[in-house]
Amino acid sequence: MNLVDNHLPTQELQALDAAHHMHPFSDTGQLNTKGVRVITKAQGVYLTDSDGNRLLDGMAGLWCVNIGYGRRELGEVAARQMTQLPYYNTFFQTSHPPVIELSRQLAKLAPGDLNRVFFAGSGSEANDTNIRFVRHYWASQDKPEKTVIIARKNGYHGSTIGAASLGGMSAMHAQGGLPIADIEYINQPYWYREGGELSPEEFGLLRARELEETIERLGENKVAAFIAEPVQGAGGVIIPPDTYWPEIQRICDKYEILLIVDEVICGFGRTGNWFGSETFNIKPDIITIAKGMSSGYQPIGGSIISEKIAKIFEDKAGEFNHGYTYSGHPVACAVASENLRILEEENIVDRVADDTGPYLREKWQSLSDHPLVGEARICGMMGALELVADKSGRKPFASEEGTVGFICREHSFANGLIMRHVGDKMIISPPLVISRSEIDELVELAHKTLDQTLEELNKQGLMQAAK
Ligand SMILES: *Cc1c(COP(=O)(O)O)cnc(C)c1O
Repeated sequence: MNLVDNHLPTQELQALDAAHHMHPFSDTGQLNTKGVRVITKAQGVYLTDSDGNRLLDGMAGLWCVNIGYGRRELGEVAARQMTQLPYYNTFFQTSHPPVIELSRQLAKLAPGDLNRVFFAGSGSEANDTNIRFVRHYWASQDKPEKTVIIARKNGYHGSTIGAASLGGMSAMHAQGGLPIADIEYINQPYWYREGGELSPEEFGLLRARELEETIERLGENKVAAFIAEPVQGAGGVIIPPDTYWPEIQRICDKYEILLIVDEVICGFGRTGNWFGSETFNIKPDIITIAKGMSSGYQPIGGSIISEKIAKIFEDKAGEFNHGYTYSGHPVACAVASENLRILEEENIVDRVADDTGPYLREKWQSLSDHPLVGEARICGMMGALELVADKSGRKPFASEEGTVGFICREHSFANGLIMRHVGDKMIISPPLVISRSEIDELVELAHKTLDQTLEELNKQGLMQAAK
């Protein structure tokens, strides 16, 4: 018998899960009443649940399984590393071959002169590191008052207190006394919902210039850095207008504030280049990495910093009082290295740029013909559908936001396709190895899901736009 198939019946698993396991971003009461779906195995782009149902994973787990499931090489590397050196720290003036090799690979892949990596266990931890990096960078140059980090409403940078403070998710700030001090927020470049009568290009400039206004208002001598995702992921795959990033770059250069680009989702091929910074021609001082770095096979994150910052840390900063027990964990590093080897040797990023990415784009955008879809946007292998009752008006539904998205998601799961809903947007971020025929299947299932959703909305009287 296959050990991984040897599990308890679904209902027993659900009962135990309800009794003893707390889930992230979940309403515990509601979840336990409904019962979790138990995933037992996966191969390629497909998951299997405990009842034997097959699901096409349109989300690559949580935006992370870039090389797809079931790559034996990663398991073999992990087993070897666990036998040879399962753990050692990098605190005591010590290092080990896997962390050295991964650092070398990352320095080679990362844009510009981003050559030095500080490791963390996750993207959230890495962004916490970034807060301390940028503030200590300025303090080390006798500018301790440069502490403010400007971030964006509806950005996502993780769930620790620091990272969630950088994020601009109001629902997260509402719990646990967030944000921390000295984080300021500007509006997001979300043209579809917030652009009004402006063209996307005008709107992109307007939103970027809020950064300049905020720097001017606070005083340049107070501002340490600006942080943003190239494309907002968790916020709903919000792709900025073409004018946005060049203007942000101009402003960061002009005021010499550090630019932290959170590449946790966009990094490692998702936008069709190794990093979103290349896709949008951004010159970051720091990038945050996690997720696709190991394709999710091991938990690992990190920050890659420019030579300019590294030099201050070498020459002036003294001891950096920061680090994690698992910074540069040998097994996680070895697995991440193997993942990068596969991404490189199998030309997976090029395939996204030249072949499957454009193919998905064409198919995905064809969904905008559907009566429920106001916009079907896509960047590389991340896409969103704006569900609306009134296509020309770009107005939200009259029902509470998320009502329609949730209905659509339920149909999608029932059809065997994992799509996530963010409010009334449906989003996808499939494994980068998805094939053309699997893309066909994804888009067919999405189409079927939209038809069923429309039917249900009509039945329930929900096809109404807000006034
Ligand atoms: C997921 C995510 C994070 C947080 O990473 P974790 O590994 O969940 O802590 C940070 N930034 C972005 C852009 C993310 O999507």
